[in-house]
Amino acid sequence: MPIDRRLPATGVVQPDKDHFLNEENPFEAMMSRFDKAAELLDLEQGLYKVLRQAEKQIIVSIPITRDNGEVEVYEGYRVLYNTSRGPAKGGIRFDMQVTLEEVKALAAWMTWKCAVVNIPFGGAKGGVKCDPHSMSISELERLTRRYTSGIIRFLGPNSDVPAPDVNTNERVMAWVMDTYSMHVGYTDTAVVTGKPVEMGGSLGRKEATGRGCMIVTREALKHLGLPIKGTRVAVQGFGNVGSVAADLLAKEGCRVVAIGDRNVALYNEKGIDIPDAIAYAAKNKGLEGHKKGDQISSADLLTLDVDVLVPAALENVITTKNAHDIRAKMICEGANGPTTAAADSILDEKGIFVIPDILANAGGVTVSYFEWVQDRGGYFWTEDVVNERLEKIMCSSFSEVLALSKRHSVNMRTAAYMLSISRVANVHRLRGVYA
Ligand code: NAD
Repeated sequence: MPIDRRLPATGVVQPDKDHFLNEENPFEAMMSRFDKAAELLDLEQGLYKVLRQAEKQIIVSIPITRDNGEVEVYEGYRVLYNTSRGPAKGGIRFDMQVTLEEVKALAAWMTWKCAVVNIPFGGAKGGVKCDPHSMSISELERLTRRYTSGIIRFLGPNSDVPAPDVNTNERVMAWVMDTYSMHVGYTDTAVVTGKPVEMGGSLGRKEATGRGCMIVTREALKHLGLPIKGTRVAVQGFGNVGSVAADLLAKEGCRVVAIGDRNVALYNEKGIDIPDAIAYAAKNKGLEGHKKGDQISSADLLTLDVDVLVPAALENVITTKNAHDIRAKMICEGANGPTTAAADSILDEKGIFVIPDILANAGGVTVSYFEWVQDRGGYFWTEDVVNERLEKIMCSSFSEVLALSKRHSVNMRTAAYMLSISRVANVHRLRGVYA
């Protein structure tokens, strides 16, 4: 039965799946992929309505005293998109680009991502609109603690478990965990993941997203019959995901010819020494000034003649404006939402094999799940065990998505959405509608 695209609450007619009102609205981008998969799955109308809505959207005002004594007020969000399969799970980002729409899209993506790799979590995301680079450590701590207390009634190991995302890290997670623990009156390490190892973090968590990107890229190269040795790779974003993905791909024998961050992109046909670049970026707070390659623009990095492109920075970097110019044979979406929905068909026409974000970067949430399990069990695994279990989940998830894409003659993105939506929908069917 064709799906009625009218939302019950507003009666607003949703744009046709091939027509995008705003290409760069991440929620519309997510929804148009959702719609396509829902139609292929012949999802019943009731479930379609349920899965199109976020369960909870929290907006908090965050006043903090700056170091100069002045009070500044920031806005923060936490969206719990769907918790049918388990506690909500998703990162917190600090960035000037943060909007409620973006956080909602990211929370929905987390729902599908957890279901693609079949871990028992729902999806959430949080964010504070701020420029963390202009804030001192103590200002960031006050911001984090006040944001945490604003959303605290929804947090908890059984309800909502944050993790790091753009511009947040294990130190920020330590503050979230401490604030929560102070409120409840006891130490509860399982309330966040991506914590320092000394306080209940998991070995291998920091590298997990980049490691997952490496694993699925390796599997995709195998599937395409391409050797990994000498594969030329460009990586946009040199933070947690990009730098680890670049490092591990290089260790597998790839030649990483381009890397870039928010300030600079570098190209070196001979291959860039990634450990050296990581050490430089750590010391200099970024790649600016690193002299081991020719400087190119961030836009040019995306259209280089390489085998594999790894966008690992922010969303909406591959759009209808530049998709025609992409020359990579394969894209591994390390970032969330790097490709707009409107650009999908252009990449398909060009025959580019895209490993979609909800699969490609699911290594992070998979090891977050391991961390939560370890915290709750009070028993910690070795890094080898973590990596072995991650490898197993990433490989089997890649195979399942690939098999579905072949069976339905759809691209990997649509197949990943079909797999995850069917898993979430199935749980809703089993649970029924509580009234
Ligand atoms: P990060 O803050 O550690 O790094 C982000 C990197 O992107 C930095 O190098 C920054 O300079 C660069 N960047 C920012 N704007 C840019 C621009 N306009 N052009 C080029 N580079 C730019 O963040 P991260 O944790 O590595 O996350 C990157 C992406 O991966 C995000 O989309 C995030 O949601 C996604 N992701 C992260 C994780 C995780 O475990 N950290 C898990 C899944 C998905």
